Amino acid sequence: MQTEELRNFPKVELHCHLDGSLTEKAVRRIVRESGYNMEVLLDSMRVREDARDLADYLSCFANSLPLLQSEENLRIAAYELVGQAAADGVIYIEVRFAPMYHRKGGLTQTEAVKAVLVGLEEAEKDFGVKSRLLLCMMRGKTQEENGETLSCALQMREYGVAGIDLAGNEAAYPARLYRELFLRAREKQMPFTIHAGECGNVENVRDCVEMGAGRIGHGVAIADDGEMKRICREKGIVLELCPVSNLQTGAVKSLETYPWAKMREEGVPVTVNTDNRTVSNTSLFKEWQTLAGSFGPVDAQILRQAAYYAIDAAFLSWAEKESLRKTLRDRTE
Ligand SMILES: [Zn+2]
Repeated sequence: MQTEELRNFPKVELHCHLDGSLTEKAVRRIVRESGYNMEVLLDSMRVREDARDLADYLSCFANSLPLLQSEENLRIAAYELVGQAAADGVIYIEVRFAPMYHRKGGLTQTEAVKAVLVGLEEAEKDFGVKSRLLLCMMRGKTQEENGETLSCALQMREYGVAGIDLAGNEAAYPARLYRELFLRAREKQMPFTIHAGECGNVENVRDCVEMGAGRIGHGVAIADDGEMKRICREKGIVLELCPVSNLQTGAVKSLETYPWAKMREEGVPVTVNTDNRTVSNTSLFKEWQTLAGSFGPVDAQILRQAAYYAIDAAFLSWAEKESLRKTLRDRTE
């Protein structure tokens, strides 16, 4: 497939963090006239080329979060992120963030969420990209803070919050510690995905599936586990793979051993995502280029299959999914 064809091919993205995807345009709008050295600032948000562990990777967020503490800035960040995704051929994106990290300027979690939703809505009008918001609960945070995030998601579900997530240090805080919160989400029919099997083990993924996760963030740890792969296949539990990020955080040793091609051939529903567009210095187009560089040319059938898997697992109504499938068919067949 030609470069431009790959770039413009309609794509669906399920795993993209707002604070890790603060675009250059957004940064310029946010810090204008502030005297910041733009290049230094932008550079501080991108992971170093030689980074190979999660600590290196996570340190970049310390430089973007301070810029995201007001309604105005959150709105701009969400808007520009969708603008960047549009240039990638994205037709639907689920953006996620942890509202508890955006209270330093006096905002409540709900106020932060509302501001992001406004930005997403404006972007949908201007760029024609449909979007939904997922709220991340955080490992290591209190039951009370995470409970507030869940309540906020439930309260805002009519306005564009489509699901919840659990992010943060998986090795220190396995997802089962947060079982009660997920049981509550399940009771209220709030769908969720959980970061699992990124740096941790297969058991974490198994726990998440048992708790009722509809998708798994990363999940690369199950690559050699026949039983978990069978469960994901049978239950349609989609893995949100993020190749560039997985390499940078050391979740996988090399691209050559990245389990995308293998799992795809085995019929495991795998999707391709950016995780953090700015921190990883990536785009959805680049992710596909990276895969093509390692595993050979990516054709329309492969791209279409990933988009269908993503639509199947999107936190949308049946009718909304049908409409996306139609867009995909009309534009690619
Ligand atoms: Zn993530």
